Amino acid sequence: MKESMLESVLAYIEKSINYLPIEDVEKENLYQLLAESEYSIDFSIKFKANKKLKVFKAFRVLHNSLLGPYKGGIRVYWDVDLEEISGLATLMTIKNAFLGIPFGGSKGGIRLDVKDLTEEEKEFILREYIRKLSIFIDEKTDIPAPDIGTTEKDMDIIFDEYARIKGKNIYSIVTGKSTELLGIEFRKLSTGYGIGYLTDKVIQDVFKNKEVRIVIQGFGNVGSHLFKKLEDLGYKIYGVSDSHGGIYSPEGLKFEEVLIAKDKYGTVVGLSKTKDSVKVVDTERFLELECDILIPAAKENVINSDNVKNIKTKIIVEGANSPVTEEAENMLNQMGILVIPDILANGGGVYVSYYEWLKGNGIQNITDSFVENIMKEKLISAYKEIDIISKNLNISYRTASYIKALEKLYKVAKLRGVI
Ligand code: NAD
Repeated sequence: MKESMLESVLAYIEKSINYLPIEDVEKENLYQLLAESEYSIDFSIKFKANKKLKVFKAFRVLHNSLLGPYKGGIRVYWDVDLEEISGLATLMTIKNAFLGIPFGGSKGGIRLDVKDLTEEEKEFILREYIRKLSIFIDEKTDIPAPDIGTTEKDMDIIFDEYARIKGKNIYSIVTGKSTELLGIEFRKLSTGYGIGYLTDKVIQDVFKNKEVRIVIQGFGNVGSHLFKKLEDLGYKIYGVSDSHGGIYSPEGLKFEEVLIAKDKYGTVVGLSKTKDSVKVVDTERFLELECDILIPAAKENVINSDNVKNIKTKIIVEGANSPVTEEAENMLNQMGILVIPDILANGGGVYVSYYEWLKGNGIQNITDSFVENIMKEKLISAYKEIDIISKNLNISYRTASYIKALEKLYKVAKLRGVI
């Protein structure tokens, strides 16, 4: 049985709280505060098509708002459930606290397979999603963004529907919008580029050269931009995968060629049809490829107790949210494999979202280059900070980053008289 993501995040919180220099009763209070979400909205979206009523499960979990408005993406995927969304919302609270962003944590989900819908049907469902939620949220309470299965266009639709409900344009209700709607062009690239900058820094610290074998799982928003950034920084990517399977080349893969194959065949595996040096690798075996840096950038729980023993890398950089389960991470620590945790590695997107939200609230002069530079600077300084904590206390980077997040949450909860 695989551990759930919520269980993993709560286990990390429980473990890291023990390092805080506070009384046991306060540790217990802080854990209780974070173990339960503030609101869990479990609802349904219904519409009639060809005389048949279609019903979809939908969720929005507002986990915690101690540090600011709830903030989290909307995931549209065939198997999302309330537990997964709660885990992701909890992770957002920890991530924002760790990165020093004045937001709380939330997450949304709609359980459906986008492949079964027309564009119009998806648009109707998203409009209905925000109509139903609009009785609970506003731009100062909870701010959605894209996640798996949602795009910039979807965020523009959410913005439009909310404007219809309120009778005016409210630019800060959602982030990840088009630039014409006060989005930030760099937002699309930010998560992947942030992982790229951080991976470069870690490689330079550990290997001190660029001759490393890098493998990336996922070629969506995060994986594709990450691939491009690492290539631009002078690295070779040896393997890449998507939901159809993976490819590997001993000569290294070229971003442009992978992109063209993905466009033409609908999967990166298509490149194996046109290049002899490119070999196909099964989805299950892909993460077991021998490499120096493995970046799971697709889905949660992909490295778990079933496959962890077969992992043959030196460093794992968590591009996706929670791709390594808690049980697997304990094993990886014993195997001497370094894990760069999600709340640090993929935090770039939230920095940029914060600036988009400020822009939507009327703050001027927020340029793409300003946002990219500040994101890079903040990620690298957060990495340096947890590197010191982890070495001083002889603990993992994950525990070190959770300690930093929990210290912040504890301090604010105390000031506000919550615990
Ligand atoms: P996406 O939907 O754009 O891409 C997901 C990719 O993963 C696709 O290429 C898909 O084919 C692939 N995939 C799915 N199942 C797979 C499997 N079993 N094996 C191999 N590949 C598989 O999603 P995204 O926005 O790139 O998000 C990826 C991850 O990063 C998620 O965990 C998400 O929560 C996290 N994340 C995304 C952002 C962001 O800004 N988009 C920010 C922070 C974290």
